[in-house]
Amino acid sequence: MFLRLLLFLALALAALVARPQPQAQAEIVVTSVRIGVHNDMTRLVFDLTESVEYTIFTLDTPYRVVIDLPELAWQVPPQATRPVGLILGWRYGLFAPGTSRVVIDVARPVALRKVQVLPPQGRFAYRFAVDLGEVDRASFLATLRQRAAVNRRGKSAAKPAPLKPRKPGSPPVVVLDPGHGGVDPGTIGIGGVFEKNVTLGFARELKRRLEKKGRLRVVMTRSRDVFVRLRRRVERGRQAPGDLFVSLHADAIKNRRVRGASVYTLSEKSSDKEAAALAAKENKADIIAGLDLGSEDQEVTNILIDLVQRETMNLSATFANLLLPEIKARARLLKNSHRFAGFAVLKAPDVPSVLVELGYLSNRQDERLLTSTRRRRALVEALAAGIERYFAKPRG
Ligand SMILES: [Zn+2]
Repeated sequence: MFLRLLLFLALALAALVARPQPQAQAEIVVTSVRIGVHNDMTRLVFDLTESVEYTIFTLDTPYRVVIDLPELAWQVPPQATRPVGLILGWRYGLFAPGTSRVVIDVARPVALRKVQVLPPQGRFAYRFAVDLGEVDRASFLATLRQRAAVNRRGKSAAKPAPLKPRKPGSPPVVVLDPGHGGVDPGTIGIGGVFEKNVTLGFARELKRRLEKKGRLRVVMTRSRDVFVRLRRRVERGRQAPGDLFVSLHADAIKNRRVRGASVYTLSEKSSDKEAAALAAKENKADIIAGLDLGSEDQEVTNILIDLVQRETMNLSATFANLLLPEIKARARLLKNSHRFAGFAVLKAPDVPSVLVELGYLSNRQDERLLTSTRRRRALVEALAAGIERYFAKPRG
């Protein structure tokens, strides 16, 4: 256990050194995190250089505690998976510009016994301390219901924004959607690499490559390590307004020998069990970050599925069919490479959309390939070629 922890710390440190971190403007620094068990209470403490404002709440399935704080500079690894007391593990990340989010996974239903920001004392500076105590499921759920009622009162009905008209003669817009980000790391590779970093690095290179000739404009759904909700990604694609939406991911599976890229398009019916499982996993991004897709979201999702027009689906399939031979010619393609499933991020009714799984982070060679600018060049080139061919085709 100790060795694994050391290995994790070493990997986290290596990741920090290897990648240029986006410079946080945050002044407040988290210098350490401590967890202790006192009687029947589990206490989590963040050591801070300054006092902070916070929001804290609990969530169900799985049991979690979520803390929103101002954007902080962290001097601790991005997550820990060693259980202590009621806490199974915790992770943090940028949830939105200006907001850092901490998600604590807990073993059982818990109550927030005490939450406080303590002033400097002795050898300690400011401390943010949470005391968690075990409760029965009924009272845990009662707390959730209370909070939901307060939220409903404060919320006004959100209308989807109308689309901006396109300027005549302006170049087509490609929307690149680097999967995951911030508090949601996505898959963690066999060598410890985070999917969120792989997708962002790849998207940045693809953007540069596509814009070089000046015939296409590229909009990114995120351009730094920040959490973006799936629906927000879809909305950004529509508002751009995008002519093509390409979501980038890199999955991991049990069989470590499997490697290669695959392309997914939207369908209510999944082409196979694995595609359905993958869509379910990718759609969980919002839940992982500590948000629940409420009934309201579900309704909108259903309406969007109904609204998906034949035309958009045909164009998505057209693009997938242009892209696949380009990947096959230049990089490595999975055998069953075009699949269909209900990915939430592909549900814009009016923007042709595909999701590309660039490779498998569970495979050592794929992981190496996707984390090296030089090695992934062929795959970047393949995607660029497919996208350019799509826009070179005359369309009605
Ligand atoms: Zn993913």
